Amino acid sequence: MRRHIFEPEHEQFRESARRFFQTEVGPNGERWRKQGAVDRDAFVKAGALGYLLMWAEEKYGGSGVSDFRYEQVLIEENTRYGERGFFMTLHSRLVAPYIGHLGTEEQKARILPKCARGEVILGIAMTEPDAGSDLAGIKTRAEDRGDHWLLNGSKTYISNGQIGDLFIVVARTDPQRSHGMGLFLVERGMEGFERGRNLAKMGLKAQDTSELFFADVKVPKTNVLGDPAKGFHYLTRFLAEERLITSVGSLAHAQAAFDITLTYIKERKAFGRPIGTFQNSRFRMADMRAQLDALQVFIDHCVLEHNAGRLDAITAAEAKLLTTELENRVIDDCVQLHGGAGYMDEYPISRMYTDARISRILAGSNEIMREIIGRSLELDERKLK
Ligand SMILES: Cc1cc2nc3c(=O)[nH]c(=O)nc-3n(C[C@H](O)[C@H](O)[C@H](O)COP(=O)(O)OP(=O)(O)OC[C@H]3O[C@@H](n4cnc5c(N)ncnc54)[C@H](O)[C@@H]3O)c2cc1C
Repeated sequence: MRRHIFEPEHEQFRESARRFFQTEVGPNGERWRKQGAVDRDAFVKAGALGYLLMWAEEKYGGSGVSDFRYEQVLIEENTRYGERGFFMTLHSRLVAPYIGHLGTEEQKARILPKCARGEVILGIAMTEPDAGSDLAGIKTRAEDRGDHWLLNGSKTYISNGQIGDLFIVVARTDPQRSHGMGLFLVERGMEGFERGRNLAKMGLKAQDTSELFFADVKVPKTNVLGDPAKGFHYLTRFLAEERLITSVGSLAHAQAAFDITLTYIKERKAFGRPIGTFQNSRFRMADMRAQLDALQVFIDHCVLEHNAGRLDAITAAEAKLLTTELENRVIDDCVQLHGGAGYMDEYPISRMYTDARISRILAGSNEIMREIIGRSLELDERKLK
């Protein structure tokens, strides 16, 4: 299907991005998956090519390009030729914008250029052992001690947890208000800040999803992001972009799975004919092709809406729900069409299957997406009571 949203400059950009992911990222994937983390160097190389924090002003190391289509290209090319566990976009377009939008001049000048060069790697720490979907349950505390904030608590499932240098940590600042939280910039080397295990998990093996611990960490006042009472409000402001990022990646993942499966079923033979020529295979592939094309149109539309500042949290929730459900359905079907080979690690589809499973859970689980969409229809018991 022809896509209408890209201009020649995006296509040119795609060619150079593809070369980067084909040469600097993809070939390292297996080694990174074994070591449980990507090399820090991958961020530095991406930074040198101008792929990090493109949205930031030049004085902060970016190129002042906020057009999301460039990020979309990077996500799509990393998904197809790079490594799903390389969370470059989380660093660049999910976490760094908090500093860009909420940070003081001093914070932006101090932090963003290093992030744009890939020298400082970012993460965001919201989830705790007892608080995931329901962030009102956060127990990590930050107490105002005059010239600093004292941080105590722990986080879990944090992306870039081992290689990260700076984390935006969500902590409770007002025990009386369920949403009384602040955002604190916690840096590598701060006393009392420790990393826990790099957690063993089903997929995304190159991603260093980890525990983080804070014991009497003195966070200087210069490391508070925005108003320390408004953290929850800030988190909701960035949700639409976070969901769009997940949607673009999940759909690209499904598209890539479809393509490798199409090649496979044309070559693999059973009962004297390519398995792709069985009616069941043909129909399944036809269903997938049609659904992928339809959803790509919707996602491309969401990208343009986002560029125009019009993508609302509900439409983004629809995008996240649909793409991640389709990703999982498509990849499951693709494993089936691969037969036993689909279960073998040496075939990429096997890894794609385990990598895909988390998409329906993170960036807001799909049940939460359904809640958001359902409430927007005023099907909310609090309103209908
Ligand atoms: C690989 C990976 C990377 C991650 N990266 C990060 C990161 O960088 N930073 C970070 O802060 N977190 C991160 N997370 C955490 C992730 O955001 C949470 O796992 C997710 O928000 C779900 O929270 P939970 O695990 O506590 O599940 P729970 O909230 O315990 O949910 C369990 C189940 O209950 C359902 N449920 C919960 N509430 C409702 C409801 N109201 N209605 C219906 N169903 C509901 C959920 O949908 C889910 O199916 C990551 C997780 C993984 C696995």
